[in-house]
Amino acid sequence: MMNSIIGTLRFKLSWTHGIVISLAISLVGLAAYRFIAYRTQQAFDRDLLLDTKLFVSHLSIDTDSFSVSTDGLTLPDVLTLEECGSYFVITDLDGQVLFRDLYSKYVKEMLRRGEMDGLLNEKSGFKRLTASDDTKFKFVTLPARDHGVSSRYLVHLGRNTEQLDAVLDESLSLFLYSVPVVLVLAILAAWYLAGRALKPFDEVAQTAEQLTSENLNTQIVSNYSEREIQRLVQSFNSMMERLNRSFQQMRQFNADVAHELRTPLSILQGENEIALRSTSLPDDVRAVLASNLEELERLTRVVNDLLTLAEADAGTEILKRKPVQLSPLLQELLEEMSPLAEESQLRIECRSLPDLHVLADELWIRRALLNVIDNSIKYSKRGGVIEVWLKPMDSNVQIGIRDHGIGIDPGDLPRIFDRLYRADPARTRTAGGSGLGLSIVKWIVEAHHGQISVISQPDEGTTIEILLPAVKASSPPTILGFWG
Ligand code: ADP
Repeated sequence: MMNSIIGTLRFKLSWTHGIVISLAISLVGLAAYRFIAYRTQQAFDRDLLLDTKLFVSHLSIDTDSFSVSTDGLTLPDVLTLEECGSYFVITDLDGQVLFRDLYSKYVKEMLRRGEMDGLLNEKSGFKRLTASDDTKFKFVTLPARDHGVSSRYLVHLGRNTEQLDAVLDESLSLFLYSVPVVLVLAILAAWYLAGRALKPFDEVAQTAEQLTSENLNTQIVSNYSEREIQRLVQSFNSMMERLNRSFQQMRQFNADVAHELRTPLSILQGENEIALRSTSLPDDVRAVLASNLEELERLTRVVNDLLTLAEADAGTEILKRKPVQLSPLLQELLEEMSPLAEESQLRIECRSLPDLHVLADELWIRRALLNVIDNSIKYSKRGGVIEVWLKPMDSNVQIGIRDHGIGIDPGDLPRIFDRLYRADPARTRTAGGSGLGLSIVKWIVEAHHGQISVISQPDEGTTIEILLPAVKASSPPTILGFWG
């Protein structure tokens, strides 16, 4: 089941579509993420730099009294900057800490642990720091103006980047989680769309599967307006037309050839028979003529079978159906065949034949049963038994013919209904077979909405069962005897 889905074009299209869409979304998403991250960092850095510049411009340092004030405000007021998450350290040019953000435990701790050493040696620019508890900071270093003249001090002002990092992390995870969801949605959408797009092709395939030599005039009527589908349907229909025409020509040719052969064959047969009646014929010539006559009879049978098939190919309209009582028909047939059975010392055993009716063309049904019984006689071993039965089966009638003859090889079984197929040509040629009998039988049974089945074992025998739809029967069963 899974294998049959995996091998479908629909599955491949869905997967390819899903992967392409997901890749495209991943690439666009990644580019968008990188751009947003870059712009957010840029905005963060700009704010930090502006804050630091503002801080520096209002800063006044009194190294004598070791105090720092901004715009006349004392250190504690400056510390309100901490509310914005800002921390600062002021160093001299050698990185010696002169003043620091006394209230910030992070700054205190980081200085104590030496985590700020790298920063203290910076003269300008941005630097990232990570505290021991993994809190992240970004600092910027600017020279402080001492009474607007020299820059003997450096201001390092930093901010906690947690909020910024959290926003970026969240957008990254949102993006990463959305990729599989997009993949699944893209596959489902593609599965649905591919299913819709491929439906017409499926319909064409279904129609093609139903085609046999009997319905080659089938044409697909399509309601799809898409050009590709219209083209496919048109190509299919014109191919069917060409095929149908070729088949018709072939059938006509077969029928014409068979027809043309029939007259010369019967003339040859007649002349051979007359020649054989002559008493003055040398023995060797007589033997040749007798063999010729046998061959001519075989050829006549083949030609007659070909004509029957040509008739059958014209369609089931040739059948003239009416209710047929099967038991008397079978009885009559068996009587007809009894001389042939006797010749091969065969016994035809018939079980009770119930009174069953079918709606059929009697002539054709008779032809089918004759062919099957004839085969049973031809392929039976001398002195054997052939069983024939008739019985009701659900809404059908079953006609069974079993012989205990040479049987059919399992490899030949599927082909015995093919035209001109003979399981063992050398063997059946002596039996007078043409390989057309069973294909005629099959056509007749199916034209009557019935079924034919064969069970056979080499050297054990063959059973042929024919099922035909029953129609109401009334009279009591006929009991039949034995022939042969
Ligand atoms: P044929 O005219 O050669 O008998 P059929 O179409 O009637 O052609 O049968 C096709 C082939 O099936 C035969 O050549 C024969 O080999 C095999 N066959 C048919 N019926 C029997 C049977 N009752 N027992 C053995 N083989 C059979």
